[in-house]
Amino acid sequence: MTPSKPSYLIVGAGVFGVSTAYYLIKKYPDASVTLVDRDAFDADSRVAASWDWNKVVRADYDDIVYCQLGLEAQDIFKSDPLWKPYFHETGIYWMCRSDYAQDVLDNYKKLGRKADLSAVPIDEARKMYGGLFDDADYSDVKEVLVNKTSGWAAAGDCLRAVTAEALKLGVKYVVAEVASLQIDDRGRCSGLKTADGETLTASHTILSTGAYTSKLLEMSAKASSLPGLRAGDRIVAGGITTGMTQLDEKSYEKFATMPVGVQGYDAERGPFIGSLPPTKDRELKWWGQTIFKNTQEVIPGRHISMPPPEQDYAQWKVSGRLKEDINHANRVFYGKNGASWKMEKHRICWDAFTTSSDFIISPHSASEGLYVATCGNFHGWKFFPVLGKYVIQMLEGSLSSELTEKWAWDRERPDSSLNPDYPRSEMKDLLDPVRKSKL
Ligand SMILES: Cc1cc2nc3c(=O)[nH]c(=O)nc-3n(C[C@H](O)[C@H](O)[C@H](O)COP(=O)(O)OP(=O)(O)OC[C@H]3O[C@@H](n4cnc5c(N)ncnc54)[C@H](O)[C@@H]3O)c2cc1C
Repeated sequence: MTPSKPSYLIVGAGVFGVSTAYYLIKKYPDASVTLVDRDAFDADSRVAASWDWNKVVRADYDDIVYCQLGLEAQDIFKSDPLWKPYFHETGIYWMCRSDYAQDVLDNYKKLGRKADLSAVPIDEARKMYGGLFDDADYSDVKEVLVNKTSGWAAAGDCLRAVTAEALKLGVKYVVAEVASLQIDDRGRCSGLKTADGETLTASHTILSTGAYTSKLLEMSAKASSLPGLRAGDRIVAGGITTGMTQLDEKSYEKFATMPVGVQGYDAERGPFIGSLPPTKDRELKWWGQTIFKNTQEVIPGRHISMPPPEQDYAQWKVSGRLKEDINHANRVFYGKNGASWKMEKHRICWDAFTTSSDFIISPHSASEGLYVATCGNFHGWKFFPVLGKYVIQMLEGSLSSELTEKWAWDRERPDSSLNPDYPRSEMKDLLDPVRKSKL
């Protein structure tokens, strides 16, 4: 039976889920809003892509929708006391091999936003920021986009603080592994079933499950005999490696106020690579260029990409080949200057991808009461302060037609070959060779 008062179960306490919970409880202080996640929000280690040391925060997009959304989010990062402590306006230094810089400048202009950003010729750019990027790889670079108003956020700390605030306002948080959705015989979603056999019910169930979304939908399709629940080729789980080095005091002095660095490529050359300024523990971070699937048989006869089955997605088990991906990133940013840095930490981070790089914020077309709000495509974190606003608009049918179409569950999507960041390798081909024991 549908409860008369709306109630909300949000599966996944990453940026999509937490932002939704926060906006819902602020708008409806008496509503029943529950976040369900396999990890406690203040756990020391989480699988969420949103849980990280730091993430790039920028509005430097050639897609005007995300440029505008990025600016809206940044306005909150810069002014609201809840978000402000986590944002660092260090600027961004983006080596562009296409017209990206000009497209971003055009978008700022079209949106009527003035900011300290420009396309800088390479020779001039190399001298900026004390020459930190002088030894970077500039092959085929046309110009450098320098936006002094972009930066980065202390991602995990921010996620924890906003979740705590949502809980203070009345959101409930349940630590549980969700095994499947609860679908009644008319195909309506009435909640979920946890791995411990507990059933939670609500009038609205929202999946913000990131890279795990396709797997959960496959398992729910099987449990309910409703094949239409499956994500099919709408969503692909993709993994990427991050690595960190701890700078010594002397290097830290030099790099402490560095901007975010980006090496921009294109669909033929591969995904963009980034380097983030050091954290308070003096740790400078990179992400690599190899984005991969993990295609497995999820249930007999069904093969999809999904994070490894371990409780922690085996995220700290990083192969030599993937560690080398981070060494490559170091070289293309810092050349000989970073040659002696020791890589201390590596992590594989999983996110949900669509071929267009668009989010999915939409009712699920196969089940009334079920909604999807996820697919960060490796760029979703920065929109944390505004995602929930748009999820509520979707729930209430007031999302603009442009966004409804862009973020729809069912829409035409471009070929993945056009998307430089789309997962192209398979994880099994990137693992360390297993040594055969002597017989
Ligand atoms: C290496 C890396 C670097 C990135 N860098 C940036 C960046 O610099 N800037 C930027 O804007 N974006 C960046 N992103 C993208 C961004 O982190 C993601 O797009 C965003 O965090 C996705 O949020 P989410 O809420 O959809 O998913 P997640 O943050 O992954 O959260 C999903 C949650 O669902 C829970 N869950 C899933 N299934 C279940 C289940 N069955 N039962 C219980 N709980 C479940 C998980 O435990 C998890 O907490 C990066 C991503 C990666 C991987």
